[in-house]
Amino acid sequence: MIELSEAQEIVLKSISQLPATKTPLSGCDGLVSYGAIYAGESIPPFDNTAVDGFALSFESVQAGNKEFEIVGTIAAGDPGDIPIGGSTTVRIMTGAPMPEGADCVLMVEDSVVTEKDGKSFLTFSKRPREFENVRKAGSDIVQGQLLFPSNTQLFAGHLGVLASLGISEITAFPRARVGIISTGSELTDTPGPLQHGQIRDSNRPMLFSLVKEMGAIPMDLGTIKDDRESLRDGFLKAASSCDVLLSSGGVSVGDFDYTKQILDELSNGTMSWMQIAIRPAKPFAFGHIGSTPVFGLPGNPVSSAVSFELLARPAIRKMMGHQKLFRTVVPAVAKTDIHRRADGKIHFVRVTANLEMNGKIYIDPQSGQSSHLLYSMANSNALAIVPDGTGYMAGDEVSTLILRML
Ligand code: AMP
Ligand code: MG
Repeated sequence: MIELSEAQEIVLKSISQLPATKTPLSGCDGLVSYGAIYAGESIPPFDNTAVDGFALSFESVQAGNKEFEIVGTIAAGDPGDIPIGGSTTVRIMTGAPMPEGADCVLMVEDSVVTEKDGKSFLTFSKRPREFENVRKAGSDIVQGQLLFPSNTQLFAGHLGVLASLGISEITAFPRARVGIISTGSELTDTPGPLQHGQIRDSNRPMLFSLVKEMGAIPMDLGTIKDDRESLRDGFLKAASSCDVLLSSGGVSVGDFDYTKQILDELSNGTMSWMQIAIRPAKPFAFGHIGSTPVFGLPGNPVSSAVSFELLARPAIRKMMGHQKLFRTVVPAVAKTDIHRRADGKIHFVRVTANLEMNGKIYIDPQSGQSSHLLYSMANSNALAIVPDGTGYMAGDEVSTLILRML
């Protein structure tokens, strides 16, 4: 058996980033940027008002002027070329440019407007302060500043900022196209009753969802029967249609595991067949068919999901330009005992993790932990990392890998 970290290293050292490409902003959500991005403009681009009200010269307010003739209105989108000063003001709407001579805005709620001889006048009881309610040009972003360093994952806020600067495409790492196949003559997709000995394929839909969730592009490439010709054809076709291939089943030592022979042949002997000191997900294979990395995940559904998490997901993240490759591990408190026996392996125990009112994360192990018991995977959102030994007692602190938000 080899350590998990060694297996991860074997995989990651032979995975390269996909070439970054120019991508329209609308397709960039969740992608990782390539190269630093600088601001070509300032935001806001001009001084403007934060409220609906009246634009005033602070100097004339300070001089004791109490009544101002309203000489016009500036709406958002107007150029705002109605200079004011002395005892004049303009109505101004949120987002409209400050007119020449104005450097503060009185909120409409604090104003009193009176009519005299067909003219309108503003008075107020509460004097505005200098620059009150003015959003200065460049107060958010200054032209030329570094916006986002290389390898920034772009979320809604980043896309909003880029759009505000008129940036319509950026150079980013693409979403990896991840082919997913299942191997096994027992697997069926046919609806209706199962023949005795058949089971339905749960790995493909599960891996499809995990791939989609991480922002890559899952490609359902079907099921391959356990015979040499189907496996050879299936793997060759699959590997040529994607950036990275996930296959499940056939990586342990069953009599009909031709997968091993075929993958050895197709990969020119680059496949490493590993027994990793973890439970579940001990058997694992990795290599390349042509230039396509191929992950041979175990068939047992829980093992397949766990080896995806620990080995495939970090590699796909690396391809997509991420610098943080691994899931977050947090200290959590065991709610009940977590028993195990010593077997030389690290156990990844399916748990429900909850953030409680005292700010601590508590974990509850699911009852079925065998690698064929997928139901307990559905009900867990984290994996407790239980090192070799006899486990933990209730109240112990346990390093826990978070799979989904708490
Ligand atoms: P294998 O790794 O091919 O020896 O499969 C180990 C176990 O996982 C067997 O019980 C298989 O029937 C089961 N299995 C393999 N592939 C799948 C799959 N795609 N969906 C559900 N169970 C599977
Ligand atoms: Mg099989």
